[in-house]
Amino acid sequence: MFARVCLIIIYLSSICLNSIAQLHPLYTYQQLSDVYYSHEKDSLKKAWQCPDIYPAKATQKKFREIWDDRTDFIITAIEKQNYVYEADVYNYLLGIVNQIAVANPGLFAQQPLLLLDRSASPNAYATGGNILAVNLGLVHFSQSREELALAIAHELSHNILNHPENAMKERAEWLSSDEYKNSLKNVLNSKYGRFSRLKEILENYSFSRSRHQRYHESDADSLAIILLKNCHIGFNAEYFLHLDSADIQYRQPLQKPLADYFTAYGLTANTDWMQVHSKGLSTKKYSFSDTSGIDDSLKTHPDCEERYKATLAGSDKNATVTPIPANVYNKATKMLIWNMFDDMQLTTCLYRILQEKDKGNKDEWYDFMMYNIFAGLYYNDKELHRFNAIGIIPKEYISKDYYQLQTMLEQMPAENLQQYCATLQNAGFWASCTTDEKDLKKFITGLAAESSNADKARRNSANDFINNNSTSMYCEFAAQFKKN
Ligand SMILES: [Zn+2]
Repeated sequence: MFARVCLIIIYLSSICLNSIAQLHPLYTYQQLSDVYYSHEKDSLKKAWQCPDIYPAKATQKKFREIWDDRTDFIITAIEKQNYVYEADVYNYLLGIVNQIAVANPGLFAQQPLLLLDRSASPNAYATGGNILAVNLGLVHFSQSREELALAIAHELSHNILNHPENAMKERAEWLSSDEYKNSLKNVLNSKYGRFSRLKEILENYSFSRSRHQRYHESDADSLAIILLKNCHIGFNAEYFLHLDSADIQYRQPLQKPLADYFTAYGLTANTDWMQVHSKGLSTKKYSFSDTSGIDDSLKTHPDCEERYKATLAGSDKNATVTPIPANVYNKATKMLIWNMFDDMQLTTCLYRILQEKDKGNKDEWYDFMMYNIFAGLYYNDKELHRFNAIGIIPKEYISKDYYQLQTMLEQMPAENLQQYCATLQNAGFWASCTTDEKDLKKFITGLAAESSNADKARRNSANDFINNNSTSMYCEFAAQFKKN
């Protein structure tokens, strides 16, 4: 793993939500990374030639392997559509990057390549080679432009300080060192089997435990604060404390009883579906009210408290706080919700929608997604994939409401699912949907319909959808059925 990390906050209530339906698409199918960054992908392969720095052949060989792994990581991520170009969100982030770069000219030899990662995890990462990636989840989660800027400045600092390159060098040196070889020998001579597994642990664990990593984090924080001061973006150390709450997204309770969200659509949700009936381990008492926290090693952002204390001296409590514009927040949120649906993570996707409803968001796009979720679940049920599509999350990470929703999606009978789809299909919100959204409805509805040669029929309707809506972002979903 490369240097990853940083920022966050909650309090989204302060963000003004747009209640008017978005009549414009978020992005086009061609703005997904495989097409949009095809040029960058090719030039990256050429530009990232491993430098010859070690006279010892074994060390140089290791270094080259690690270097090429990094190139593969980025290339594969681009090909897998992990990144997207959406002008409003992208340019907002780029504005922050440019503001930092212009005010710190000596530190930026060239314009960094900014990538917008579709992950919902509140994170950003630097890969070296002048690349910086910001997750949609970070845009959704950050409370202000200043917080986002801190995460960006921290990642830019990793690149400026050559941390990714140094980490690759240190790793190559470690893996070809006598100390490592001797540890390996001991593993070989030990009575325990599964050599390859132990080797893997030794390679990664011993390495990531190295104290260098910690120094890297605090060095990046220190430089980030300087970068921000130079471009007059306020820094408040409390951002690090807010970052500590990054893992509680699904532990936040809903504002209403779960059934009420469905009643609003004229759907009946039987509370019996939300209770686990099976006997055994799963019925073991579990207290959702215990929020004593997740083990630090499982956190997206460990050591937040430490980072807060270490940077307190440079902190300005009265720093200006600039809200993230509503269109940027809304688009980032929709994009990450769509991505969850496309990945068939239906519970998390639906929970995010209910959280948006709690914030007073009336945008009909979320109703359209509500239909997609139930129709998608019904389709998966017919294909006997329902359990996978629900995507079970362990109780430690979720609220009681999330657990009820997860249980409901698991247990509601297929005929009720079908009823949900039928009711939602005829709901009033479709009047404000775009042509490609209505076409997607036809496509998803057709997926679950009986057919003697289902695969062929699905392939044909996927082709029809793509041909009729060639620039639609929803082609991504249809394309999965084209391949089958
Ligand atoms: Zn970092």
